[in-house]
Parts: sequence; structure tokens; C-alpha cells
Amino acid sequence: MNLILLGPPGAGKGTQAQVLADKHGLVQLSTGEMLRAAVKAGSEIGKKAEAVMKSGGLVSDEIVIGIIADRIEQPDCAKGFILDGFPRTLKQADALGALLDSKGKSLDAVIEIKVDDTILVSRIETRARETLAAGGTVRADDNAEALKTRLMAYYRETAPLIGYYYANRTLQSVDGLAPINEVSAQIESVLQGVAKA
Ligand code: ADP
Repeated sequence: MNLILLGPPGAGKGTQAQVLADKHGLVQLSTGEMLRAAVKAGSEIGKKAEAVMKSGGLVSDEIVIGIIADRIEQPDCAKGFILDGFPRTLKQADALGALLDSKGKSLDAVIEIKVDDTILVSRIETRARETLAAGGTVRADDNAEALKTRLMAYYRETAPLIGYYYANRTLQSVDGLAPINEVSAQIESVLQGVAKA
């Protein structure tokens, strides 16, 4: 099964991707995590991405499309994958479609995690506070200024993908304001519907 999780920063894509990966043995492909790893490793891609990520802007389509194209070719992705944080622009969505077509693969579902805008800021602030209290390192972009840029990038660039995938009939929505296990249950029922179709 090949899935996309779509939703604004703080919607819970990463949390649900992890649950799905564990439960169904799918590979979680988070471009945000891959890019953070590249920054940490100091690779060429990391050097190009670091400043824009820190500000909350989007890394270039060429870079992220390249990362995903390489990753999807790896043998572990044959058992199915969950894209978390990709695609984020119409150009990325088109590139993904072409990439999957060329490999004879397809998307089984695009799951939109719907949330109320007002909750996002407080969720991300809580995440940063909890990370600090646990002695962890807060993400460079989990601050008020970068968060504003991330939300603007989401509404400008990513939200149109909801219409795009609705139009090609792959979009399904779940209520991201429900408790974590309830969201997981809603996603499960979407997947069961897809499996039956
Ligand atoms: P978020 O919590 O904002 O959803 P992510 O971990 O998915 O965060 O991404 C963090 C940052 O990595 C983004 O703000 C952006 O700079 C960069 N990034 C991740 N995925 C993409 C993508 N598909 N296209 C462009 N930039 C991306």
C-alpha cells in the first residue's frame, strides 16, 4: 500500500505515519526528517537546505523530488510506503505521479488530516516545551516566527493539493482533532475501504 498523509504542520502526520509503519510494515518517508538528517550530516543537500528550513520556508522542489526519487527506488519501499511531508507543492505532486507511473506503482490513498487552524500553534508550542523539559533539542523551526512562515507556506503551496487529489479521487479525510488512537482508527477504516475497492 502506498499512502500520502496530508495536513498542516502540527496536524499529526508524523505520529500517524509511525503508527501505520509499525502496524502495516510500511516504510515511513518523511522529507522533513531526511532533510534534518542531511543538515546534521553537513552534506551538500543539508548545506543548501539549512537556512530555508530554519526560517520555515520550503526547500526547492528539485532537491526534495530528487531525495524521494532515490528513496522510492530502494528495495524496502516495494512493500509500500507512507509519504509524510511530501508532496508539498503542485510541482512535487506532478513529479510524484510521473515517478510512480514510470515504476508501475500507484497511490492507494491520500489521507488528509483535518485540523482547526487555531490548534496548530498551541500544539507546536507544547511540542517544543515538552521536548525541552525532556532534555531534548527543539527543532530550529519550532518557534513563533518560523511557524508563521511554515503555516503560510502550507496555505499557499500545499493546501491546493487537497483539491488536486480530490479531483483525481484519491483523497480521503479524517478528523485530526480527535485523540491519537481515534485518528488511527479513522485511518484504518479508510484503508479497509481502499483494500475492498
Ligand atoms: P512540519 O512539522 O512543518 O510539517 P517537516 O518535518 O515535514 O515539518 O518539514 C520541516 C521543513 O523541511 C519544512 O518546513 C521545509 O523547510 C522542509 N521540507 C520538508 N519536506 C519538504 C518538501 N516536500 N518540500 C519542500 N520543503 C520541505
